[in-house]
Amino acid sequence: MAKIKGIKCIRTRAEGMWTIVKIFTDQPGLYGIGSASDITNQEGVIKTVENLLAPQLIGRDASQIENIWQTLYPSGYWRNGAATNTALGAIDVALWDIKGKEAGMPVYQLLGGPCRTAVPCYAHAGGNDFLELEDSIRAYLEEGYPVVRCQLGPYGGGGFIPSDQARRPKNAWPDSHVFDDERYVDTLPKMFAHLRDKLGFGPKLTHDVHEHLRPQSAVVLSKLLEPYRLFFLEDALPPEQVQWYRLIREQCTTPQAMGELFVHPFEWMPLVTERLIDYLRLRVSKAGGISPCRKAATLCEAYGVQTAWQEGGDNDPVNQMAAVHLDMVNWSFGIQEENHFKPEEYEAFPGHAVLEGGYLYPNDSPGLGIDIDEEKAERLIDRSRPFRAFPAAEERRADGTVVRP
Ligand SMILES: [Mg+2]
Repeated sequence: MAKIKGIKCIRTRAEGMWTIVKIFTDQPGLYGIGSASDITNQEGVIKTVENLLAPQLIGRDASQIENIWQTLYPSGYWRNGAATNTALGAIDVALWDIKGKEAGMPVYQLLGGPCRTAVPCYAHAGGNDFLELEDSIRAYLEEGYPVVRCQLGPYGGGGFIPSDQARRPKNAWPDSHVFDDERYVDTLPKMFAHLRDKLGFGPKLTHDVHEHLRPQSAVVLSKLLEPYRLFFLEDALPPEQVQWYRLIREQCTTPQAMGELFVHPFEWMPLVTERLIDYLRLRVSKAGGISPCRKAATLCEAYGVQTAWQEGGDNDPVNQMAAVHLDMVNWSFGIQEENHFKPEEYEAFPGHAVLEGGYLYPNDSPGLGIDIDEEKAERLIDRSRPFRAFPAAEERRADGTVVRP
């Protein structure tokens, strides 16, 4: 029986964007790692690990993952905060890593064994116009990706109007461009008409609205995109307006993916049990780790909803590996969002999942199979740039109203 002896937070990547939690045990060389990365509140997550959760962990039996999760979860009294869930998620994943190492098995074997031989991913294609986007999609299809996300430039692209061409007030704030729902709802169907015309209906395509639209515009867009048979439309609505998914369902068959902003089960459970979405997109660390996401995947299976765990560019290789282990074992798995890293970033995480030809491959090492080389992780930090938070992008409508990011 391994007892937890210590916990530390290792901050890495330029500007300290990533935090990896390392849990030590009293057994020589036995430790586990988990992702506590939070691009907007890194200090808050680290303080939660250090001040609230770590003192409760020392001396506990590391094998009691469920007991520890259930103990720590309400220990801050207020549940499911983004920071507390990320801290808890890191600890949960690190404990699964330890359990796998003790058992001499990869985590996906402990979770029931593989349902598939590798994890299919969707790529992020982009372009500033339809032709550029088409080229980008073709390149990813050529590489082997089974699904490709299609974006016109940055999130909201297709809906931006240069400020000097927009109908703005005379005292407008100084924005270079503004977001316009009607422009977006007009452009996106044209974009998919072009893509289907050039690529046919074989390629599986998605699009991420990133919550930019007013709810009614999201309903209209979903309906207008129906003829182009998307694999899914992502985040058509912000988490505050999920009841509108019912109206989308009543209007069209465009599959809906949602969930990267959810931290509380009450946010996503009704969407699954009422079959209002098709893909649940929790970020594993934000949802509290492997333990709760495994339960979510089981619930999804019962209701015919599939998982598509989120992997934004700010995620680290450890969170990706936790998602990969879940992807390997859950029958309700739908697709995995891709993420790739710089060569020197991969080097700091030996045993990382291997992305090849549109598929992610775990390895057979005991535990997560990924480690952190602390010296190399330290070298990823750019000391010329101070650690900082990265607030979500601030976009506005013509009159200055902020758009949900
Ligand atoms: Mg997204």
